[in-house]
Amino acid sequence: MTTREMKMGSAFLISSPIKKEFNCSIKDNPSSNKAELMAVILSVMVCPKAAEVKIHTDSQWVINIFDKLYNETISEIEKSKVNYKIWWLLLLKMVKIYDLKINLIKIKAHGDNENNKTVDKLAKLGIEKETLMVEDTLLLHNGTICWRDMPIERNPILMIKGVKDVQFVDEFMSLNRSLIYQQPELLELIDWKMSLKLNCINQYDTLFEDHYLQSFRIKICCDELPTCANLKKRKPELYDDRWKCNFCGIEEETYDHLWQCYKIKDIVQEIISIFKKFLVNIIIEFSKDEINKDQLVDKVEELAMWDFNCHYNFTFLLKNQISYKMMNLFKFYKIVDLKMIHELIKQIIRKIILDFKILIWEYRNEIQLEKEKRYNISNKDKKKKKSKSTSKKDNGKHIRIEQSETNWNKWNDLAFHWGGHWANF
Ligand SMILES: [Zn+2]
Repeated sequence: MTTREMKMGSAFLISSPIKKEFNCSIKDNPSSNKAELMAVILSVMVCPKAAEVKIHTDSQWVINIFDKLYNETISEIEKSKVNYKIWWLLLLKMVKIYDLKINLIKIKAHGDNENNKTVDKLAKLGIEKETLMVEDTLLLHNGTICWRDMPIERNPILMIKGVKDVQFVDEFMSLNRSLIYQQPELLELIDWKMSLKLNCINQYDTLFEDHYLQSFRIKICCDELPTCANLKKRKPELYDDRWKCNFCGIEEETYDHLWQCYKIKDIVQEIISIFKKFLVNIIIEFSKDEINKDQLVDKVEELAMWDFNCHYNFTFLLKNQISYKMMNLFKFYKIVDLKMIHELIKQIIRKIILDFKILIWEYRNEIQLEKEKRYNISNKDKKKKKSKSTSKKDNGKHIRIEQSETNWNKWNDLAFHWGGHWANF
């Protein structure tokens, strides 16, 4: 399904004084709220002047907003920040111009009400019917903000903020070191909204100890850890091809390899097993639910991130990337408060970073220092500025800019058409 084809059904049914029904499909930023609101608008369109209308709907959202806006003037509504403002304006203008008395009555969704059942079916069938087209001039009013010739229906400030966020992430993604994220399968596994939130470091509430870990974490995120692979790039005059993985001596020493090196397989397995237990315990601590521990252990096992062959594996956590699967696990155990999830994930990441740092990285550093001593590389040598030999490959650069431009548009398109937060695509 592509976004352009994203459609929803909308329907209404008049039960008296005459029986009439209508359904159609809607597109452009559809949502359940929009479909409900459209149904109300469509039913009001066919009412005679000065009619008293009772509309039964199962949407509390429509009722709440309608009651709130009913007593406001059109110019007050124009200034408000309500979602789908252009549609609300259309509805309230009709109500005022045709002097309609509207009474919205809440009915239970999927309840026993026969009319409600019929109209639900109609709405479902509506998806297959023709798409409702509304003349732009009906919707536009002074100062409507448009995105690519389409009026923005949601809060424009949030929309602009979303566009800015996209720009930021896309810049990050188009860096060479982020090439891995250009695999669409991987992109879909990560909850970007939460992952971005984790990237915002509040410099005022971090302890000194955290600050130390923080800089370690940033090096991992940016692939700037002084692994042999990076040292060779930075100081080719000191490190030649003999500098391979400190454990196996065969493979290139990169961050990813350190997790996968066969020589320290046991240490990694130990870290994974401790980490799984940690996850179980911390979820029990944060959840308000009665927890069946065996079930939780199984669910942690099923997270599909314990194997390095997975698109997403647990080492992504050290780069602040959280998978949807993990977020769903929290939700399953009724940990839904975003602040709480944020705190929980911070502790989880902290745990895995600490274990990596102490059990792998510091162990590796000892071996590396020994080796540097043998090769007579002093601290002074290491601190020396690199000679001017930066031979940047300029070739790929132009292509990349073009590509990032299209990506940027794509992200925004997704955000616009689906109506959610752009980061959820
Ligand atoms: Zn190795």
